[in-house]
Amino acid sequence: MRNLIIAIDGPAGAGKSTISRLISKKLGINYIDTGAMYRALTLKCISEGVDISQTDKVIELCKNVEIDFIDNSIYLDGENVDNKIRSSEINLNVSNVAKIKEVREMMVKKQREIGMRSDVILDGRDVGTHIFPNTKFKFFLNASPEERGRRRYEEIKDKEKNITLKEIISGIKRRDDIDSSREVSPLVKAGDAHEIDSTNMSIEEVVDYIVNEVKINSKIGD
Ligand code: C5P
Repeated sequence: MRNLIIAIDGPAGAGKSTISRLISKKLGINYIDTGAMYRALTLKCISEGVDISQTDKVIELCKNVEIDFIDNSIYLDGENVDNKIRSSEINLNVSNVAKIKEVREMMVKKQREIGMRSDVILDGRDVGTHIFPNTKFKFFLNASPEERGRRRYEEIKDKEKNITLKEIISGIKRRDDIDSSREVSPLVKAGDAHEIDSTNMSIEEVVDYIVNEVKINSKIGD
């Protein structure tokens, strides 16, 4: 029998990673944060002083970088970079790295390899449309940009004291624009994905909804 693959897609700040992490724990399956891989490559570009508009150099770095998940944490060339990849500088640049066709091809190849190994939940922008289009468990998480901005602000306001809610909302909108309008596998809801608008839902409600859907339609027990 094929392994269980749950695809969680949606725009920035919709709560995908928090929700996916909780579902992975509840169901006892692995979690792959596909966005973390693009973030890790962006971190590598910045730390090597590579200008992201120089596509050839970014592709070259991507060919030579080691990006792995160990116990649901992301490692860049052997270093745990869970925290470093969440900075404003990465937020600002990651979508321009992620729109490069060759970079996406390499990342998707790796995401498919990891995803085939075991039961897994993946979150990102193109999981249900491109990475695993044949899975029957596809969810598209959404919320208003203002609510998504508010949640992000609550998450980072203690770490980044100078950032304002307004800046976060405009950063989120800018990232969504680049992600939705790029040529290669843009951010779009798969035709057969369940759309969940979480603007007025708690994290627990979304988690329970998805877990129930998966349990009803698969052989996973309680
Ligand atoms: O999910 P997260 O916000 O961490 O993703 C960071 C960025 O990585 C997104 O804004 C998008 O540009 C890119 N991404 C992507 N495809 C994915 C996951 C993320 O293009 N599957």
